[in-house]
Amino acid sequence: MKVAAYYNIDDIRTEDRDLPELTDGEALIKMHSCGLCGTDIHKAVHGTVKPGTVLGHEVGGEIVKLGKGVEDFQVGDWVFLAHHVPCFTCHSCQRGHHTVCRQWKETNIEPGGFSEYIRLSPLHVKHSMVKLPDDMTFEQAAMMEPTACALRAIERAGIRPGDSVMIIGTGQVGAILLQLAKAWRAGTVIANDVSEFRLEMSAKLGADQIINGARENMKQRVMEITEGRGADVIFVAAAVPALLSQAVECAAKGGTVLSFAIFNEGTTVPVEANRICMDEVSLIGSYSSTPFEYPTVLELIHRKVIDVESMITHRFSLDQLDQAIKTATDPGEKCLKVMISPA
Ligand SMILES: [Zn+2]
Ligand SMILES: [Zn+2]
Repeated sequence: MKVAAYYNIDDIRTEDRDLPELTDGEALIKMHSCGLCGTDIHKAVHGTVKPGTVLGHEVGGEIVKLGKGVEDFQVGDWVFLAHHVPCFTCHSCQRGHHTVCRQWKETNIEPGGFSEYIRLSPLHVKHSMVKLPDDMTFEQAAMMEPTACALRAIERAGIRPGDSVMIIGTGQVGAILLQLAKAWRAGTVIANDVSEFRLEMSAKLGADQIINGARENMKQRVMEITEGRGADVIFVAAAVPALLSQAVECAAKGGTVLSFAIFNEGTTVPVEANRICMDEVSLIGSYSSTPFEYPTVLELIHRKVIDVESMITHRFSLDQLDQAIKTATDPGEKCLKVMISPA
């Protein structure tokens, strides 16, 4: 089978590897669409994974083989799958933090999403594979994982109807966050980015107000839009440390700032300390997604509450993964979401 193997940012090879063997309870999936995630790009650019790694984890595919004892699925089923499975019982899981569970990080699909075929363990078959309705596409399925990540962030931020919401960084997850905020009946939703293209897309996807951070004073504009209160909920979905500090400045009293950005290790960020105690601004985070989000995102995408099709701007094949990453990281490209297909 064909895989796209990562060696370094300038060396991504198409390799021929053996089809994984199945044992009891496992499944073999033929990949039809795999989204290129911001975390894939981060790993590729910063070289944080071993040479030979097959990246990719946002998969829509078809079951081509099942191990003994799998009862809930059949060969031929179209499915969504995700790469990590929490244990549901450890200290972190019991407290609702399933994405910091040790097992969650240790589990993975084999060899990765950017492969013609993918083997799923019994744990994955049980918890992180979802059968698709007949009229759902593989690309919609591949958008379930990033939508699940955004949904978890929306739920952790606790948006109430009428809240003013700002999304700083309207890339692939920011564009979903803003649609979810609208669906959660937020009041004014503000899209904040430095890319004209992404801001245009944000307006199309339902943002009420646009701030171009390259040309406008963020705090001044937020205060104008919110009658001097600041935004009730702010998502930071761009890994620029200064933006996190600014977000704390722009939050309303009693508001919430949620960091959805993965910074370089060791990054520290100054925040005005009294905003946390005296203004009761909460600074929280949300990382990745869990099986609890999958049934909801399936509904949201299937019913087109979240328009994922309009977000897909580029399509590449497995052997063009290097080009796909270049496109996604080129600020001159009008790129929001990249999909990879086997051929
Ligand atoms: Zn992802
Ligand atoms: Zn756990």
